Amino acid sequence: MALKEYRAKRNFAVSPEPKGTDPKAKKKGAPLFFCVQKHLASHLHYDLRLEHDGVLLSWAVPKGPSINPADKRLAMHVEDHPIEYGTFEGVIPDGYGAGIVMLWDEGTWEPLVDDVADALRKGDLKLQLHGVKLKGSWALIRTKGGDGRSWLLIKHRDEWAGPIDIATFAPLSIKSNGDFTDIMSQASPDLWTSNRAAKGGQTHMLKVAERAVAIAEENRKASGGREASLKPREAGKLASKAKRPKPKAATTASAPARSTPRTPGASGRAARSRATRSRPR
Ligand code: MN
Repeated sequence: MALKEYRAKRNFAVSPEPKGTDPKAKKKGAPLFFCVQKHLASHLHYDLRLEHDGVLLSWAVPKGPSINPADKRLAMHVEDHPIEYGTFEGVIPDGYGAGIVMLWDEGTWEPLVDDVADALRKGDLKLQLHGVKLKGSWALIRTKGGDGRSWLLIKHRDEWAGPIDIATFAPLSIKSNGDFTDIMSQASPDLWTSNRAAKGGQTHMLKVAERAVAIAEENRKASGGREASLKPREAGKLASKAKRPKPKAATTASAPARSTPRTPGASGRAARSRATRSRPR
């Protein structure tokens, strides 16, 4: 049941994405998997996935996670994905989500609530991430109004928070250490060369390939022209040492920790304006 929507959207004869086995119960207390996949499709976005009840709960984060508690990142709740999806990296040549998927971060997560299902219903999930790039305490808060799929991903202020733009700072794959261009040229060398050589073929994948080249160029520039950007592990270490802003600035970011409920009117307005700003081009 949980993977019905996931499977209905995809043609597994075309897509290399895993079909997924049906959710299996896990030993109580066993570590829960989490990952973030950077997905260059019609728009660049980051997919946050948290293992729960044998599937991966999934949110598409247009601007990507931020370790700066001042940032509230729009996170659109999307269909559950199979556990096997969590380590997928590659090219979806056609159909739903056509583009390039990079495994940007992975690790384990712990709910900081007693009952995850209840937290999802209430739209207020506190969690601890143990990734390579993302660590520490976070909140996922559903915004009021809308279709109920809009959440905000917010970093709590702790030793893993900092004013660094982690998506720019550590842009590469945790699995292959490559950029989108490396993944595409390795996973689909035919598609890569044909798309780059013969324009006018698959327009969408040509755009994806061109965008991948532009992104890889930006990343190379940002890393000071070095062949590869920072290794994710180094980036994680550096990020943790990042200078912390003065605690005074924490007032807006401490919102998820407050105990009084927010007023629906105010939070709805704020969420809407944030959502508009975060919408990918
Ligand atoms: Mn996606």
